[in-house]
Amino acid sequence: MTQVAEGVYFIEGQDESIPDSHAYVVGRPGSRDLSLIDPGLMGKGNYKIQSIQNMGIDLKAITRIIMTHSHLDHIGCCAEIREQIPWAELWVHDIEAGPLEEGDERTVYGMEMFQNMCMMQYNLKPGAFTFYVDRRLQGGENLDIGGMTWEVLHIPGHSPGSIGLHNRLEKILIPGDVVYADYAIGRFDLHGANGPELKNSLLRLAELEVNILLPGHNRIVKDLPPGYIAETARQWASYLA
Ligand SMILES: [Zn+2]
Ligand SMILES: [Zn+2]
Repeated sequence: MTQVAEGVYFIEGQDESIPDSHAYVVGRPGSRDLSLIDPGLMGKGNYKIQSIQNMGIDLKAITRIIMTHSHLDHIGCCAEIREQIPWAELWVHDIEAGPLEEGDERTVYGMEMFQNMCMMQYNLKPGAFTFYVDRRLQGGENLDIGGMTWEVLHIPGHSPGSIGLHNRLEKILIPGDVVYADYAIGRFDLHGANGPELKNSLLRLAELEVNILLPGHNRIVKDLPPGYIAETARQWASYLA
């Protein structure tokens, strides 16, 4: 785990045959109101917790888990993590919160073939990803968390309840799987995905000032060129129509 900026820590995903999402911890260290963004894949809970402790962060200071979206590679180890920080609330966008509470796992797995494979490989029972959601995010909130302000953006298309977190002051964007480094974007063929919505979400993100891009996978970028997201949207526009 490394510090990307004041109050923003990065834990690199440990991909296996299935990718493991990056996790981020946000909040000023002294605030004792830290948020863990996206736990990651099944079996990665101890690795993520260890990484947090190795930075000298007290687990008791983590008060919530915020999901950029509820795909398996992001929520897979949520239960493992919550065993170690059971007091942490779970915050998810409204559209994906309902299915999570009802045990509807179509968005978690994305497609049936993948679901069958994962359930066998990881010995998962139906309903393994049923969670009570403490706060349903809508998009448009300015969250005052950990002594910092993060705006929630609802950016559907990769999944129906994808959110981005934008820190206007520090020009940091945590976009989940909507946009990556190197002009890549999230896939838009899974359950609840939608190409035109993804295009609109990219155009929405293109309006933000972003110097630091902290996506769910692949490289993080600390000196994003101006116009990067607009150019990414342009390159993908014909595929997303
Ligand atoms: Zn992902
Ligand atoms: Zn995803």
